[in-house]
Amino acid sequence: MDRTMVIAPGPTANGDLHLGHLAGPFLSADVCARYARAAGRDVLFGTGVHFTQNYIVTTARRLGVDPEELRVRSGGQVEETLAAVGIEPDGFVRFDDRYVGSVRAFFERLHGLGRLRLRVVPFPYAPRTGEYLTDAYVRGGCPVCLADGCAGLCENCGHWIASGELTDPRSTLNPDDPVELREREVLVLPLEEYREALGAYFARQAATMRPRLAQLVEELLSRPLPDYPVTLPIAWGIPAPFPEVAGQVIYSDAETVAWSMHCTALAAEHRGETDGAAEDGSDGGTDGGADRLWSAEAGAKVVYFFGSDASFAFAVVGVAMLMALGEHVLPEHFVTNEFYELDHDKFSSSRGHVVTGRELAAEVPRDLVRFYLAATGPDYQRTNFTRGAMAAVTDARLVRPWNRVAAKADGWADAGPLPVSARSRTAAARLLERFAAAYDPRRFSLTAAAFTLTEQLARLDRWEVSAADAGDFCHEVEVFLRCAAPLLIDLAAEGLTDGGIPAASHATEVTPGRLPRLAGADR
Ligand SMILES: [Zn+2]
Repeated sequence: MDRTMVIAPGPTANGDLHLGHLAGPFLSADVCARYARAAGRDVLFGTGVHFTQNYIVTTARRLGVDPEELRVRSGGQVEETLAAVGIEPDGFVRFDDRYVGSVRAFFERLHGLGRLRLRVVPFPYAPRTGEYLTDAYVRGGCPVCLADGCAGLCENCGHWIASGELTDPRSTLNPDDPVELREREVLVLPLEEYREALGAYFARQAATMRPRLAQLVEELLSRPLPDYPVTLPIAWGIPAPFPEVAGQVIYSDAETVAWSMHCTALAAEHRGETDGAAEDGSDGGTDGGADRLWSAEAGAKVVYFFGSDASFAFAVVGVAMLMALGEHVLPEHFVTNEFYELDHDKFSSSRGHVVTGRELAAEVPRDLVRFYLAATGPDYQRTNFTRGAMAAVTDARLVRPWNRVAAKADGWADAGPLPVSARSRTAAARLLERFAAAYDPRRFSLTAAAFTLTEQLARLDRWEVSAADAGDFCHEVEVFLRCAAPLLIDLAAEGLTDGGIPAASHATEVTPGRLPRLAGADR
């Protein structure tokens, strides 16, 4: 059976998940995985937290806590928040010795294949403290889009900005310290060597990439591709196992493929597959399970869900790294999303502006949270969240119509088997097709799924049911509930005996049961 590996890369472990994270990659990945599994496909869904970016150090310093403590605490919070809104990954990446071993083994392999190069690279340097300033440690102007920000991935234009290329760099650790440029030798993956292969790969992706990723790829390929650092001369991170760069760490944003492979290995183990991993669970840094899952021979389809600002690291560098390794599958689809705003202010953990999904799910039934985040999801452009709009929209489009439909269907609950017409089977087929179009990774869209849900629910709500077509009505309500199940998980669990989503309906009769109701947002 074709296997699909759904991956939502972990957020930086410097805080809980905010609604922006949830409404983008995490809910999307969960819905995609639930649908594929309900439709009978073999699915592994993995996520977790990313524990090595130096944003953890700068956030910890701002909060006055220990960075180690912050990242462990954040990992726990993220797990709880995912659970609170019903996002259930098979694998969840935690920071532990096994992860460190997997990352080191991955880069030892690339190094052994001769894919990494030693290059002299300029870095902002603070002479007073003797520190090189990379990513979160340094702010300045983005040379591509002129926005002010940290080095690394520019949140504004999505390009990757080498720390030494920021204009007017200044230290975020000690803003008054003078900063100069100093050269160091680091190991890099020379992306320019993969230009032709990347060009061909992204040409094949052209029909399904969302506009921002397509634009980024086009801009990148129109200029020389950078040497992407694999090691950095800083103290925070996983020690690099290479003598020529002794004392350096692996660049956190180069870990994307190693992180993903580790994530899917954990997911496979969680689902009971043990043949790839070592008996003691430590795997000695080889993560053979990951290699098996990602081998070209196994032919799994890898589908990524992430915010557009992660595109460079996961899509461009990630694919180049898989090409450098050779004999591995390349991702099938990248489903990217834009920013989700809270009352028109951007969510950001590093700025301490957070409304967590956990806080919201404690006050509002999680099916409503999932539906509303989907309905307003930032699939293609920035969207905005307000509590008032959530209450009004879920009430008018979901809770009231569903409760009317359920009450109407309950009128036939004890009527025994009712006939289903050919017309109703055809209608069910159309319904299944519409939802499949929204849930399929190729054109995945949470907003399309939520829109289809409200349209179909409104149709059932308008239906004036008579004894002659009660079977058709109850049949289509059941098919509707199956299709809505990836979003409305609790309602479906209560209202269905199994969660399967068939490709077509062959029902000739239906035995209606009583249907659950939805509680409103102001319960
Ligand atoms: Zn920029």
